[in-house]
Amino acid sequence: MWGYAIIAIAGLGLLVIAAPTILRLLSLTQSNSAGPIRAWFTDTSVRPGLTTVRNGEACPNAPFILPSDGFIGLLYRDPIGPYNIFRRHTAIDIFGDGAPGEVPVYAAYDGWLTRLEDWFATVIIRHDDPLQAGRTIWTYYTHMGARDGSESYIVADFPPGTYDKPVKQGDLLGYQGEFAGSGPPVGLHVHFSIVLSEADGSFKNEAILANTLDPSPYLGMTVNIDSWPERPINCEE
Ligand SMILES: [Zn+2]
Repeated sequence: MWGYAIIAIAGLGLLVIAAPTILRLLSLTQSNSAGPIRAWFTDTSVRPGLTTVRNGEACPNAPFILPSDGFIGLLYRDPIGPYNIFRRHTAIDIFGDGAPGEVPVYAAYDGWLTRLEDWFATVIIRHDDPLQAGRTIWTYYTHMGARDGSESYIVADFPPGTYDKPVKQGDLLGYQGEFAGSGPPVGLHVHFSIVLSEADGSFKNEAILANTLDPSPYLGMTVNIDSWPERPINCEE
């Protein structure tokens, strides 16, 4: 009797210890991003072959420009680390080939820019949704700062405490960085998401997948992990 109980408790303990590994393996089966991301950061010779270069030009029939050139590595709904199948990526991560503070980030579309008082490396832009008349959506850009917090890479036009400042598609917002606050370290990139509005017109919490939209139709590119796109990702045919 006690023997079975001990075996059961031991089994449960093992399961608890193994759970993160099981979750990670399950997540890997639903993404093709891990290999190319590892390659990007371990072998710089692969970078040109992974990079999407649009130079600020929108894809045919797409309203948004890609806000930064680089390797579109972690995709929308991507479940790989630090995300998983229960907490998927709400954005696309574009990894630029350059040093922190060098790779420009541009406004994806015309709108009104806000940078809250305590936003060191983040801006958000309000837009009239070009794909759904009458709806307000937002584009969110983050990690534009030095890893150690010593320097923000957001341009001087948008200091903390900027509210609803008009911007045009292609306006320079700042530069890619590695700032991740108190979170785990990240490689150089910009995290770009499309965020829905609350009933009162403010932006929703972009960390929650249900509050965000698949950027694919806005960019004219397949950037949803469910489509398992090969890299580099180019304009849809
Ligand atoms: Zn991201």
